[in-house]
Amino acid sequence: MPAAMPALFVGHGSPMNAIEDNAWTRGWEAVAREIPRPDAILCISAHWEAPMAVTADERPRTIHDFGGFPQALFDVAYPAPGSPELAETVPNVTAIDTRQALDWGLDHGAWSVLCRMYPDADVPVAQLSLDRRLGPRWHYEVGRRLQPLRDAGVLVMGSGNIVHNLRAADFRDPTPVEWAPGFRDLTNRFILDGEHDRLIDLAEQGHPAINSGEHYLPLLYVLGAQRDGEPLRLFNDDVFAAISMTSVVIG
Ligand code: ZN
Repeated sequence: MPAAMPALFVGHGSPMNAIEDNAWTRGWEAVAREIPRPDAILCISAHWEAPMAVTADERPRTIHDFGGFPQALFDVAYPAPGSPELAETVPNVTAIDTRQALDWGLDHGAWSVLCRMYPDADVPVAQLSLDRRLGPRWHYEVGRRLQPLRDAGVLVMGSGNIVHNLRAADFRDPTPVEWAPGFRDLTNRFILDGEHDRLIDLAEQGHPAINSGEHYLPLLYVLGAQRDGEPLRLFNDDVFAAISMTSVVIG
């Protein structure tokens, strides 16, 4: 059996990373070169909160789900094919009733990163929603059930930000708010030590760094998809204002 695909959590930050060249976008490009080319990608994005659903379009549309950015960003299209086949497989591996969604597409949590990782838009992509009726432990459990997809050449990819609180900082000043570096260090240690329960507990307890939670939860899917003892590494491990870009490659 070929080695499993890695699993990936990406801190996506500003949508402008889709069209800017910086250390983070170069980090994404480098990871895409380093890992095996996936047959398909299943992306869990912070920006799609909906009852359990998976995109099933043949041709997912590019969703510009933000405001106040330059026209150049609204002009970006990411015409990757969808994967109705992967969409059908998801409820089979998770044993969770999952709506086959034709009313979403790719939001910027997915395409702002993928357009840098796979600029030719030639890897099929499906998105899995974040079902906020369910608690952090459930999101981790869904990630565990997604593990077998990795053996079928699917890149399980979470896209969010481990530290994310847009209200807590003035983004014209990159100086991290007082709790941000400490929270980044704590979560990094738990990730590196495989302390998944501690990371779930943090989400259950709440913290200003996690705030409303949607940018943190995609991390739990990716850690759920980690097999026992499987190596991982961090990259783009920067924190500014009240955002961290810390990203994780497993396997
Ligand atoms: Zn975001």
